[in-house]
Amino acid sequence: MDVLISGAGIAGLTTAYWLRRHGFAPTIVERAPSFVTGGYKIDVRGTALDVLRRMGAHDAVVASSTQMQGPFSSTARATSSTG
Ligand SMILES: Cc1cc2nc3c(=O)[nH]c(=O)nc-3n(C[C@H](O)[C@H](O)[C@H](O)COP(=O)(O)OP(=O)(O)OC[C@H]3O[C@@H](n4cnc5c(N)ncnc54)[C@H](O)[C@@H]3O)c2cc1C
Repeated sequence: MDVLISGAGIAGLTTAYWLRRHGFAPTIVERAPSFVTGGYKIDVRGTALDVLRRMGAHDAVVASSTQMQGPFSSTARATSSTG
C-alpha cells in the first residue's frame, strides 16, 4: 500500500516513523522549502514523552532541551512569565 503524508511537522514525521516500523514506506511531501532552524520552544509532556521513549528518542530530546523557563514578552511594560 502506498502512503502519502502531507506535511513534515511533528505529526507527519512521527506518523512516518511508526509506519516504517510497521513495514510501510511512506512518502512525505512538505510545502516549505526547508526545515525551520529557529523558533520558539515547545513543551513536551505526558503521552508525548512516552511516545519519545518508544521511539528511542527521549534521551536525545532531553539532551537538546533549551532550558528556557517560560515565555516572556520583550514589548510588554513588565515582563510576564507563565512558568
Ligand atoms: C507559539 C507556539 C507555541 C506552541 N507550544 C507548544 C507546546 O509547548 N507544546 C505542544 O505540544 N505544542 C505547542 N504548540 C503547538 C504545536 O506547535 C502544534 O500542535 C504542532 O506543531 C502541530 O504539529 P503538526 O505536525 O500537526 O502541524 P505543523 O507543525 O503545523 O506541521 C504541518 C506541516 O505541514 C506542512 N503543510 C501544510 N500544508 C501542506 C500541503 N498542502 N502540502 C505540503 N505540506 C503542507 C506545513 O508547511 C508544515 O510543515 C505551539 C504552537 C505555537 C504556534
